[in-house]
Amino acid sequence: MPELPEVESLRQILERSVVGRTIVGTRIGRLPLRRKVTTNFGPRIRGRRIDKIGRRAKYLILDLDGEDVILVHLGMSGSLTCRDRDFDSSEFDRRHDHIEFRLDDGTRLVFNDPRRFGIVRLVVRIALPDLHELKGLGPEPLSEAFNADYLAAQARGRKVAVKNLIMDQRVVAGVGNIYASEVLYRAGVRPTRRAGRLKREEIVRIAKFIPIILRDAIDRRGTTFRNYRDSEGRPGAFADRLQVYGRAGEKCYRCSTSIRNVLVGQRASFYCPTCQK
Ligand SMILES: [Zn+2]
Repeated sequence: MPELPEVESLRQILERSVVGRTIVGTRIGRLPLRRKVTTNFGPRIRGRRIDKIGRRAKYLILDLDGEDVILVHLGMSGSLTCRDRDFDSSEFDRRHDHIEFRLDDGTRLVFNDPRRFGIVRLVVRIALPDLHELKGLGPEPLSEAFNADYLAAQARGRKVAVKNLIMDQRVVAGVGNIYASEVLYRAGVRPTRRAGRLKREEIVRIAKFIPIILRDAIDRRGTTFRNYRDSEGRPGAFADRLQVYGRAGEKCYRCSTSIRNVLVGQRASFYCPTCQK
């Protein structure tokens, strides 16, 4: 499942390839996504220029000239790829090309989503802040609004496991399962620790490593997002950097203890029992 680094990498790729392009046509597939694309979608965006590509949490926001934006969420298996005429789509199942935007330079921006949990939705820009999907989200982990003081205030008195706290989108937007395990390893804190019982220095370390890990992952274009290959030719390379995630039973790179896997909030959570207290 794409997490924040994958979505941000995709945003950067699309910024280079489609900003400034005008949408000259659309093709909507027959199978519905999680939310059906409205009938006026195509006519309404025809002739509109893509001015900017923003991101909020795991939502991409395609800013059009005029009053609308297109909100995109990749769901479990979605991808948005820019394809030219010679694009080799053997990687993709055509049936799952749900929405195709034809651009004025002859390329196509295609939303493909085999599991159809994704969202592509036209929203009036001024309605964006009040949108159900975005309204309750906590600060962006790469913004200044997210820091140790903020995290300490969120953790205070909470009985929830620290891993669940940092994965709570209302606390901080966009820390998913893989990166939460990696952050807690780097911070030396076990994923099962009660948030309200953390020491100040532990919170400081967690708040420090969240943006460090995410930036590192963005620089390496995420971890597991196979479709990146098709946008600019390279797969996500953060998988090589994982210290604990997916390594249960293997040795900790730092101390050689076996990495453990424990369920926290029904999610697999990996940690080193020696390096993490
Ligand atoms: Zn260790």
